[in-house]
Amino acid sequence: MIGDPGGASTGPDDTAASLVILGAGYAGLTVAHEVNRRAKGTIPIVLVDRHPVHVLRTELYEIGRLAAAGGNVARWTVPLGRIFDRTSVTTREGTVTRIDLAARRVELDHGTVPFRSLAICLGSVAAYYGVPGAKELTQQVYRLSGAQRLAAEILRVERASRELPGERRPRIVVVGGGSTGTELAAEIATTDWAALAGAGARPPDVVLLTGALPFLAGLPPRLVAHAREVLRRAGVAVVHGYNVTRVDPGRVTLEDGTALACDLAVWCAGLEAPDVVRELPVPHGRSGRIRVDPTLMVPGHPGVAGVGDVIEFVDPETGMMVPGTAQAALAEAKTAAANLIAQWRGEPMSAFHYRERGVVVALGLGKAAGSVRQLTIWGSPAALLKRAVQRDYARAAERGDTPSLL
Ligand SMILES: Cc1cc2nc3c(=O)[nH]c(=O)nc-3n(C[C@H](O)[C@H](O)[C@H](O)COP(=O)(O)OP(=O)(O)OC[C@H]3O[C@@H](n4cnc5c(N)ncnc54)[C@H](O)[C@@H]3O)c2cc1C
Repeated sequence: MIGDPGGASTGPDDTAASLVILGAGYAGLTVAHEVNRRAKGTIPIVLVDRHPVHVLRTELYEIGRLAAAGGNVARWTVPLGRIFDRTSVTTREGTVTRIDLAARRVELDHGTVPFRSLAICLGSVAAYYGVPGAKELTQQVYRLSGAQRLAAEILRVERASRELPGERRPRIVVVGGGSTGTELAAEIATTDWAALAGAGARPPDVVLLTGALPFLAGLPPRLVAHAREVLRRAGVAVVHGYNVTRVDPGRVTLEDGTALACDLAVWCAGLEAPDVVRELPVPHGRSGRIRVDPTLMVPGHPGVAGVGDVIEFVDPETGMMVPGTAQAALAEAKTAAANLIAQWRGEPMSAFHYRERGVVVALGLGKAAGSVRQLTIWGSPAALLKRAVQRDYARAAERGDTPSLL
C-alpha cells in the first residue's frame, strides 16, 4: 500500500459531498460501477457526460453496419439512464468546459458542479499534428457522430460512383496504420457497398497510409504479417514510410511529395488529450495527457484521479507505457475506484500495475487476427472471440457487472 490518503474534506467547498466522474466512457462508467458496488451507496456519485448514452467506441469501425443502420445507433450505445436505474449514481448531461482543481468545482456549458473527489475520464480526441487541412477535410471514427458522418459520406461517394468515367472506382484513403486504421480499411474494403448504395455502385479502392511508424506497431510480427496478407487479399493497398503533410479537397500529400487523389480521406493517425485536460495546471505527458502518480492520482490534488485515454502512465514494474485502450481503461478504473474510496475514508491507496490480456484486430468478412496470452489466433475464431469480448462488455456495462473477457 502506498500513497498519501490526503484530507477527506479538502478544498474550500465542504458542501460539495460527491465523487464527480467526468466522462461516461469505458473509464468513467467502470469507476462509477466499481465505487457504487464497493462503497455500497455510501459515496454519492455524480456522473457527467455530454451524451445521455455510453458509446461502445471500440465498435465504431463497423462502418458498413453503421451505413446500413440509417441513423439507428442503438447497437453502439447503452442509455445511461438504463444503466444507473436503481443505483445511487446520479447522471448529469453537460459538456465540461473547465475543471477548477483549486476551487474543487467543474464548469459545464449549463452550470457548475462542485466535488469532494473527482475522476477525470474524458477520453481522447483526434490529433492532427498541425497538418494543414487534416482537421477540416478528413473524416474520423473516434466519436459516434464522426463514424455516422463517415458512413453517410461513403454512401454518398458510392452512389455517385456509378457516374465515374471509364472503369474508375472511388478512392478512400485511410491515414494511420494502427489498429483503428487497419480495422477501418478492412471493413471499408470488404463491405458490399452495392447492397447499401444501390446496384451499379463500384467497390471502393482503399489505400491505407501507415506513415512513418511501422504497420500495426507493437503487435507480434506473426499477427502483423497475417493482417498484411488479409488486407492484400481484400484489395487494400498499404503505403508505408511517409507521413501525410497536407490535405486538400480531393487530395492527400505525403512527405516525399506524392499527391494521392481521393474521394474521401479518413484520419486514424493518433489521439491526444481534449483541450479541457491540456489546460489543467498539472504535469502533462505526451499529447497533453495527465501524468498521474502510481496510484492514478493527479499529483498535488488529493482525491483527484485520472483514468483511461486521458492519462500517461508507465508501469514502474515493467517499464511499459500503458496503452490507450478500453482494456487498459477498465483495469485502471478498478484501481482508481478502490483508491478514490480509500482516499475518501482516509485509508492508504494501492499502486496500479497493468497486464495486457491480449489484442484482436478485426479484418473484415468475419475474420480477425489476435494475440492472446502469447498465442496467435486468426480467421473466424479470432473474430468470434472479438465479438464475444464486445458483447460481454456491453452486457456487463449495462448491468454493472465486471466483464470477464475484456
Ligand atoms: C474504432 C476504434 C476501435 C477500438 N478498438 C479497441 C479494441 O478493440 N480494444 C480496446 O481495448 N480498445 C479499443 N479502442 C480504444 C478505446 O475505444 C479507448 O481506449 C477507450 O474508449 C478509452 O476509454 P475512455 O473512457 O478513456 O474514453 P472514452 O470511451 O472515449 O470516453 C470518454 C467520455 O467522455 C465524454 N466527454 C469527452 N469530453 C467531454 C466533455 N468536454 N464534456 C462532457 N463529456 C465529455 C465522451 O462523451 C465519452 O463518453 C478502439 C477505439 C476506436 C476509435
